[in-house]
Amino acid sequence: MKKLGWTTTVVGSLPLTNTPENLIRGVKAQINCGIEYPCYPQLVPMIDQFLDPIVDMNVGLVKNHGRFYLEADELKLPKDPFALEYGQFMVEFFKDNPDYRKKIKGWKACLTGPFTLASEIIIPESVVHKPKISLFRDTTAILSYDMVMGLAKMMSRIASEYDKMGADIISMDEPMLGIIVGRKTYYHTEDEALNIINQAISTISRHSSVHVCGRIAPKLRNLLLESNVEIMDHEMTSGYNLKLFDRELLEQYEKTLAWGVLQTQIQWIADSTADSYIEPINHVKKAIHEAVDQVGKENVILKPDCGFAPLLSIFGEEMGMQVVEGKLRNLAQAKQEMEGELT
Ligand SMILES: [Zn+2]
Repeated sequence: MKKLGWTTTVVGSLPLTNTPENLIRGVKAQINCGIEYPCYPQLVPMIDQFLDPIVDMNVGLVKNHGRFYLEADELKLPKDPFALEYGQFMVEFFKDNPDYRKKIKGWKACLTGPFTLASEIIIPESVVHKPKISLFRDTTAILSYDMVMGLAKMMSRIASEYDKMGADIISMDEPMLGIIVGRKTYYHTEDEALNIINQAISTISRHSSVHVCGRIAPKLRNLLLESNVEIMDHEMTSGYNLKLFDRELLEQYEKTLAWGVLQTQIQWIADSTADSYIEPINHVKKAIHEAVDQVGKENVILKPDCGFAPLLSIFGEEMGMQVVEGKLRNLAQAKQEMEGELT
């Protein structure tokens, strides 16, 4: 499959509560703004989305005050894929709305990666060797290669179903990788980490992606470059990661960089309106120029830094969506205006 480049997508979450109406609203909003690869609206927290169903299966994982605990020595995971309703929603939506399907190039599914899921499962101290110095106070499944690998296999079975539903981009979102890779205390060898990443994306036949926001250590960049993933999806507006990539590196490893050109970490400004938070088109164009100059038009996918869910608590749904739509519209418009300017 030819790698993707010079297109637009999103990370996945939106400032909307989880209702059937909001799923429709969220996907329509992305398409009306001109996003070429919209994601299903991720309206449930990324951990709960995949761990809540396992709790309901009564296999030893329990939820207490919002946190997940393994009450067994072994992490038993379902063999059958689950949490497929988000993709099924997209399939149904496009069946009912063929005019919307015609406006886009494809659609994206955002799944949660095995490292990030493992880091939220608190396990009995006795089942794993805990390092003397740990980044985390709790003993979690991330300390166990076998448990993380088990989660990677489970996610690859889920990804396989999204692949069959026709998702064009399938992302394993791994914020936890940005926290554990590149520090002195590292939980897995490089080979182990590579095996886990490659396992998670192994069933994706079109475009595989890994999203890690925050500051990316050179070691994590190298790990992802060595992996089989096609799209490396990172935050760029903060400037931390700007100098980590160039055209030669991406082409050598046949990667595409999903480059954050829209800020998603937002602080409330007194007496503000939605416009106060929306990057003007010229500002977005400047960010796109920077991306294109550095890595080349064909190696870049344009998108917001991260998901938009945090905007819900800052703005509420209406103003939150106004901010999101303003940003996405300006992104699509900026890209379109630049089509002719760039060769
Ligand atoms: Zn993120």
